[in-house]
Amino acid sequence: MKIGPYSDFQIRIPDFFQHRSHQYESGAEVWMAAFRVATDLTPLFPFVNALFEEAVWYARPSHVRFIFKGRRCFIHPRNVLAFFFEDRDRALEYADGLIEYLEDLAGRRDELWPNYEQFKPLPIIDLLKILPRTNCRECGHATCMAFAAALSQGRADPGRCPGLDRPLFERAVYPVYDRDGNLLSTIDLEIDTSKIRSDLRRQQEYIEGLEAQLVEGEAVGEAAPEATAVEEPSMDYGLTGREIEVLKLLAEGCTNQEISHLLSISPHTVKSHVIHIFNKLGVNDRTQAAVLATRRRII
Ligand code: SF4
Repeated sequence: MKIGPYSDFQIRIPDFFQHRSHQYESGAEVWMAAFRVATDLTPLFPFVNALFEEAVWYARPSHVRFIFKGRRCFIHPRNVLAFFFEDRDRALEYADGLIEYLEDLAGRRDELWPNYEQFKPLPIIDLLKILPRTNCRECGHATCMAFAAALSQGRADPGRCPGLDRPLFERAVYPVYDRDGNLLSTIDLEIDTSKIRSDLRRQQEYIEGLEAQLVEGEAVGEAAPEATAVEEPSMDYGLTGREIEVLKLLAEGCTNQEISHLLSISPHTVKSHVIHIFNKLGVNDRTQAAVLATRRRII
């Protein structure tokens, strides 16, 4: 597979990056190299994807990103872009080295194991549909659209938006170690979070049963079994600090509107917190949440 010589070689000084780069602050210029190749590089994508740890093969448009010789490199079927370089000569030298490497790789394809895994970003518009679209900024992004764009690129954690419901399934990666503590491999499991919720609900039913017994005991004049309350272990149920704040106010009888006012967050965000709290505690209403929170010393 003959890739070079390349054509349309351009050295671009990226104004946008210059304003952000460390080099710019120190007064030096930074350069990018862009060039076309005569041969379609697509057959090499699975091999680059397999060989470079940081490589990502994007499905749309098809291109692979990776770090080669310390420089960020984007290979499209017929175009290559790499940056940053201190001067033109280094950019040209890099381009020669890259072409040489790719030609060598093409010749070794029979000996290598390809990786066909591609990163397919979800459409931003589809992600936007599942967000509350209040632009409340709690996720650290200026708008829901910006957060959706970051999610689409895999640059944001969905958990940062309190308005997103819990996922139905979660993926967990467990490490497998040998006797000396060396990492041998990993096991990838999909966890059905609806089962976790039903377990929490069963716990809740058990607690309610205990409460019913307690109330019955008080009704017949027995001393309240204080030991029962003491023996109940405290649990946090994975609530975030903000959810605990909301739960405290909820247990004091505040409405969503009042909580919104007291915590300076939107009513929609309060509603999202309340839904998350119910899901995590496995309860169906505010009274159950308040009782469980008190019993389990969450608040
Ligand atoms: S936290 Fe959620 S609702 Fe608020 S701006 Fe971010 S994505 Fe939008």
